[in-house]
Amino acid sequence: MTGQTSENVVASTWTKPIPPVEKIPAQADVVIIGGGIVGVSTAWFLARQGVDVVLCEKGHIAGEQSGRNWGWVRVQGRDTREIPMMLESLRIWESLKDDTGEDVGFTRGGCFFTANSSKELQSFEDWADIARDYEIDTRLINAPELKQHVRGSAIDWAGAMVTMSDGRAEPHKAAPAIARAAERSGATVLPGCAVRGIETSGGSVSAVVTEHGTIRTSTVLCAAGAWTSMFCHSLGINIPQLRVRGTVARTAPCESVLDGNVFDDRLGIRRREDGGYTVAHGSVLEHPVTPASFKYFLKFLPALMQEFKVVRLSFGRDFIDEWNMPKVWDLDEPSPFEETRVLNPSPTPSVLKGIRKNLDTLFPQLANTPIVESWAGTIESSPDVVPIIDSVDGVRGFHVATGFSGHGFGLGPGAGKAIAGMLTGEDAGIDLSPLRLSRFFDGSPIRPQSAI
Ligand SMILES: Cc1cc2nc3c(=O)[nH]c(=O)nc-3n(C[C@H](O)[C@H](O)[C@H](O)COP(=O)(O)OP(=O)(O)OC[C@H]3O[C@@H](n4cnc5c(N)ncnc54)[C@H](O)[C@@H]3O)c2cc1C
Repeated sequence: MTGQTSENVVASTWTKPIPPVEKIPAQADVVIIGGGIVGVSTAWFLARQGVDVVLCEKGHIAGEQSGRNWGWVRVQGRDTREIPMMLESLRIWESLKDDTGEDVGFTRGGCFFTANSSKELQSFEDWADIARDYEIDTRLINAPELKQHVRGSAIDWAGAMVTMSDGRAEPHKAAPAIARAAERSGATVLPGCAVRGIETSGGSVSAVVTEHGTIRTSTVLCAAGAWTSMFCHSLGINIPQLRVRGTVARTAPCESVLDGNVFDDRLGIRRREDGGYTVAHGSVLEHPVTPASFKYFLKFLPALMQEFKVVRLSFGRDFIDEWNMPKVWDLDEPSPFEETRVLNPSPTPSVLKGIRKNLDTLFPQLANTPIVESWAGTIESSPDVVPIIDSVDGVRGFHVATGFSGHGFGLGPGAGKAIAGMLTGEDAGIDLSPLRLSRFFDGSPIRPQSAI
């Protein structure tokens, strides 16, 4: 069965051996911390502009969020602050196969948000109006038209909001392919190379200290995903960030019931390149409460109120682990980033049961289709659930790109282009000012416009 070949095993991204690091460059124009989709895309754009760039990843390329996500590449439903970057990202995804020379599994199969009632369908009008402003092909469709795209469901939906130009890609393939393309363009990509900290001179970045030695540089991008807040805290930089956990599964190849991505409050489902489906619960995200939950409670209150039906709080080991985590460390000793090479949470059994039940309820014809793999991923979010992309006041040459929430996979290539522009001072045509870090500290209202 094709779905069982190692090429399709999602966890192979983070379970294969990490190649040993032979040698690291003594210096670079730019050092990127983090080999997720944001870090590798930035490295790829920089390398193609002739910038001498080194990317350090403590574990595997795409070993954390970027290899574990649902694989949706959509503009539909996004916060307006993400739309220009996402439209650019979709253009990059379209030619990514040709530009990297590798299969990333991208295809445009449409994105459908289903409505259980005509009232719910009407509620999509607001976003459809926004889409018109950006000339996006979003439409509201009725039940018969939806049935042509989502075949044989047992649910009588009232209709859906759909954007046919939205797509999907294979997370376990995309970031590793972009990283290889970056290397071919001249970037140095170092998996198994944790960054412990940075050195400064006169308030400016002077070097990056890794577990394998020091790289002299004046420009650093911290694209460390769920670790960004902690890394920056060790430098005295405050990045408000919390983590939630999502459980995901994939089915064996089976009958084709849809070609794109469908979101229902019971199930998020998308067609996979291998002929199976990536499936997740439509309305369960878990937030293990930690000291950071209290520290950032007020900033995250609007997001928590918006997501109160979806986010399940849990109390346990994560609180103690974070409490015991060192806040600062010596750069000549192993750091917390080497302790946890890969953030690898376990899928939650009760959520997996819910996924199976909801899949069978929505698509009874898939009831005998086995779930062949399951995993979990830690999503990191900013208070208004859109990214923070900025240079940091006080440490010249230090930049952050984080807080991509549950939407950073699709956004990754566009973000990479915009961030490369920020680092080189070239205009990438994407305004980053709405994503500035200071919005959380200058009294601006914190208003999430989209879901985590
Ligand atoms: C379950 C789930 C479903 C999702 N679904 C979607 C979706 O359908 N569509 C979508 O667009 N987005 C989705 N997302 C969100 C998306 O995956 C993320 O927003 C995106 O991958 C973030 O990319 P990143 O590069 O910022 O972070 P990451 O992929 O987390 O990469 C950061 C990397 O930094 C490394 N690192 C950290 N600290 C250090 C250090 N000190 N030294 C060296 N390396 C370090 C980490 O090991 C990690 O590999 C989902 C996420 C999850 C978990």
